[in-house]
Amino acid sequence: MVSFEKVRLKALELGFDFAGVARAEALDDEARRLEQWLAGGFHGEMSYMENHFDLRTDPRKLLPGTRSVIVLSHNYYAEQNGTSGAKIARYAYGQDYHKVLRKKCKALERWMKEAYGDILFRAFIDSGPVMEREWANRAGLGWNGRNTLNIRPGVGSYFFLTCVLTDLVFEYAYPLRDYCGSCTRCIEACPTEAISPSGYLLDASRCISYLTIELRKEIPQEYSEKMEGWVFGCDICQEVCPWNRFAKPHSEPAFSPSPALLNMTAYDWSQISEKLWDVISRGSPLRRTGRAGMQRNGSFLLKSRAKGEQSDSTRLP
Ligand code: SF4
Ligand code: SF4
Repeated sequence: MVSFEKVRLKALELGFDFAGVARAEALDDEARRLEQWLAGGFHGEMSYMENHFDLRTDPRKLLPGTRSVIVLSHNYYAEQNGTSGAKIARYAYGQDYHKVLRKKCKALERWMKEAYGDILFRAFIDSGPVMEREWANRAGLGWNGRNTLNIRPGVGSYFFLTCVLTDLVFEYAYPLRDYCGSCTRCIEACPTEAISPSGYLLDASRCISYLTIELRKEIPQEYSEKMEGWVFGCDICQEVCPWNRFAKPHSEPAFSPSPALLNMTAYDWSQISEKLWDVISRGSPLRRTGRAGMQRNGSFLLKSRAKGEQSDSTRLP
């Protein structure tokens, strides 16, 4: 058995904010919940969520020989909610987090292999069939709140989660208990009613993050007055969460936004040229939705606003 403290301290030295570890085992309860979620069609067009069910619910099948799941969290909180009326989720302000965190994971891998020999080490950075939030809970990093995000008491939820599968064996943490209490703010604040009435269940197909990033078709008209100014992702259920009052700005320069990005309006996005898109989106998570996707999102917002203004002007004084 290896002491996790040394690994934790190294991860912190490399720039991660928190690290925990859980025993690798089958996620039986979570598998049942995932099955129901998929059966309910709450994943919308994200059919990749249906793939690799067995691997997703048991890391020992994903990487044979795995004994532990190390969870690393990295702050991405930025105080400013940028943007000239066309809001972008904070996680996408800076450089693509996959690349930034991959570098830090590589450094951790090198250090662990020097320290512990030829060990198994495979990092999943919001990629691959791994249920990061469940592992973060089991590793004692946070609980999964009614908004379905992993929240750490006294710190909040603006964190990227990375899971490392390894064959090392450690002493394991206990899962963290739920601190949502009687709060329902995220449920009430969600403009598209994507969170179920009692929470802990997200209809992703109604979530603004899905509508602006994952959906390839036109955004359905039923959402035209519900986008609240978002053109890429949505942070509302994090912004209203009382635990995020404790959020502190990150200190990773690669996650800082360029002024050009923050100055973009809905109109600018709707008209963005190939040249400007290339400059603004280079190395950014915005690439996921593509130029056509951002043009669609900008246009949708503009049309929604025009519709809103029209209905305001026809209202009796
Ligand atoms: S991200 Fe926005 S749309 Fe999605 S669940 Fe949270 S508040 Fe609702
Ligand atoms: S807003 Fe309230 S209910 Fe929602 S996740 Fe935060 S503490 Fe839990």
